[in-house]
Amino acid sequence: MLPVIALVGRPNVGKSTLFNRLTRTRDALVADFPGLTRDRKYGQAKYEGYEFIVVDTGGIDGSEEGIESEMAQQSLLAIEEADVVLFLVDARAGLTSADQAIAEHLRKQQKKSFVVANKIDGIDADIATAEFYQLALGEVHQIAAAHGRGVTQLLEYTLTPI
Ligand code: GDP
Ligand code: MG
Repeated sequence: MLPVIALVGRPNVGKSTLFNRLTRTRDALVADFPGLTRDRKYGQAKYEGYEFIVVDTGGIDGSEEGIESEMAQQSLLAIEEADVVLFLVDARAGLTSADQAIAEHLRKQQKKSFVVANKIDGIDADIATAEFYQLALGEVHQIAAAHGRGVTQLLEYTLTPI
């Protein structure tokens, strides 16, 4: 059984960019599962010796309406299905109340969850990501999904090599 990694976070933080990067190295087995979900997308990934299933989600915005929405439901299901949750935040946009709401949900789960600050290209990553320690989910991992920076180290940290 391959480990399942779910990508969650509010819209526009770079989940799909990371999904595409992780699944590109092999003919990605990407499918929408009709009837099961509109927003969850599954891919089989082999990346730098790590093999896993990755699940992209439409996003969750953390608002009261959002948490009830189908999109949010899909994110919650993806979290349930996953062995590992990568909670993406936007290092350029900074910490938002939606991020706080998602973190609150994750802190209640018995699930390996990692905060991943994306879009660190061209900015001072340590300064930009410091505030995400307030999410109280441990270490804040820095990546630039669009360029691949930090992605291998992230997998090293979150998965056991095959
Ligand atoms: P999603 O809504 O979370 O799936 O986010 P997307 O993957 O669709 O990305 C949202 C926007 O952020 C797009 O314009 C991406 O090009 C941009 N983006 C994603 N990753 C990076 C990154 O590492 N650096 C920068 N500068 N932009 C990024
Ligand atoms: Mg997306």
